Amino acid sequence: MGTQPTKTLQADVVIAGSGPGGATVARELSRKGKRVIVCEAGKYSKWLGHTLSTFFMLDRKGLSFSEQGQWIVSGRTAGGGTVVYGGMAWKPPAWFKEKYGIDLSAETDEFYQEVSAGPLPDSHIGPASRRIMEAARKTGLDWKPADRLIRADKCKPDCDACMSGCTRGAKWTAREFLDEAVGNGATLLLQTEVERVLTESGEAIGVRAMGPEGPVEILADTVVVSAGGFGTPRILQRSGLYEAGRGFAVDFGRYVGGLCPDHTPRTEVPATTGVELSKEGIILLAGTLKGIMYGGMLAITGPRAWGRLPDAFRAGKALGILMMVRDRVEGRINPEGTFSKPIDEDCRAKLNQGTLIAQEVLEEAGVRRKQQTAMTVFAAHQVASVRIGELLDQNCQTPIKRCYCMDASVIPEDWGQPPVVTIVALAKRLAKHLAVAVETEVAVQEPAS
Ligand SMILES: Cc1cc2nc3c(=O)[nH]c(=O)nc-3n(C[C@H](O)[C@H](O)[C@H](O)COP(=O)(O)OP(=O)(O)OC[C@H]3O[C@@H](n4cnc5c(N)ncnc54)[C@H](O)[C@@H]3O)c2cc1C
Repeated sequence: MGTQPTKTLQADVVIAGSGPGGATVARELSRKGKRVIVCEAGKYSKWLGHTLSTFFMLDRKGLSFSEQGQWIVSGRTAGGGTVVYGGMAWKPPAWFKEKYGIDLSAETDEFYQEVSAGPLPDSHIGPASRRIMEAARKTGLDWKPADRLIRADKCKPDCDACMSGCTRGAKWTAREFLDEAVGNGATLLLQTEVERVLTESGEAIGVRAMGPEGPVEILADTVVVSAGGFGTPRILQRSGLYEAGRGFAVDFGRYVGGLCPDHTPRTEVPATTGVELSKEGIILLAGTLKGIMYGGMLAITGPRAWGRLPDAFRAGKALGILMMVRDRVEGRINPEGTFSKPIDEDCRAKLNQGTLIAQEVLEEAGVRRKQQTAMTVFAAHQVASVRIGELLDQNCQTPIKRCYCMDASVIPEDWGQPPVVTIVALAKRLAKHLAVAVETEVAVQEPAS
């Protein structure tokens, strides 16, 4: 049995990962005529809109746990996490500019306009979300319609399939930018997992990947590692940057819900209203869950919730609140696929505080306290595993020259909000930098060749 021959390809820019970071860089550079190759470890799954389809687009089918047993979900499909995300839009925090000198306002505005981001109109705020908003306001919270990356004209008010993969093209996903990049001439290599960055004299010259037909080496002037909060540090570690993945942050989440006797079931768009308690690092969103998800969450919450399992058959009558709390940069991502992420005392306190607020609001909305269940803690939004200002310079270049990172991993510190708008804005900024950098390199090299 001989080893499979290595295929070699050539590009101006090779990108590892097609989430919002990678897809945005691919789209922006392909618009400028650069030869772009995107390697994506996942498939281009087209089974969308069914609760179970979500799991087929998650890494390890959604069964990814830290060494401490924390459940952490991330996307693994063309478009990355955005195919299954909720489409919540949060603008980059002011400290990006104040502390790091990175002004993302122009790129954020551009993205908001491109996808018509903003709160959904009244017609799309369903009865459960409205009822929770009114109850929350009575408890003194500034609960209001939340910004979404959803086009109201394509969104059906009685559809709740955002997180199963929107079938109407209403929710923005990174696949839109990826498809545009391919339309501009970029190459998308699916089921192609980048192993490491290839270097020569400390400079990146391409990547080595494993594709469905065997190993492939893609030689390029510029490498952009965009494999997500977990994937990027692993590629960098395998490329000799052992500091990558030392510490990362997530948002810990919990759903609190219960049956409300006088609520008339109606499917509605989830998370249209909410509140951010920025000082506390807590975000609360009104959310409804499909019966299968409601039952699944109760089941994995453990014995204390099993008595409520029959509620799953009447999940349409349930009101619920999804909370997210800010975590600290700590823990570790290991090259072989494991990771460590403790929940510290501060996070536990925030989860408890968020749970109490959610319970009070639900009670005000008509869900009796003893009908409510605070379900299992999970986490998403893995960020800050490589970090601008530490392993990366201001332009997100790694210590390997011409090897950049662009995804959630570059976020420089503790986070605590949905990251996609920030990632896209950072990626647009990087693409502007690379368009100039690649041109300058070519101009410098030409006379010599
Ligand atoms: C259920 C859920 C709901 C969410 N809701 C929201 C929300 O409402 N709003 C929001 O802003 N954020 C939300 N998020 C988070 C958001 O989806 C992610 O933060 C975002 O997608 C991260 O973007 P990224 O570019 O870092 O990479 P990712 O989206 O993680 O994409 C990385 C891609 O790289 C691929 N990859 C990994 N390793 C390799 C490799 N070695 N070679 C090649 N490819 C590789 C992966 O398959 C993946 O497709 C949600 C996430 C989940 C899971």
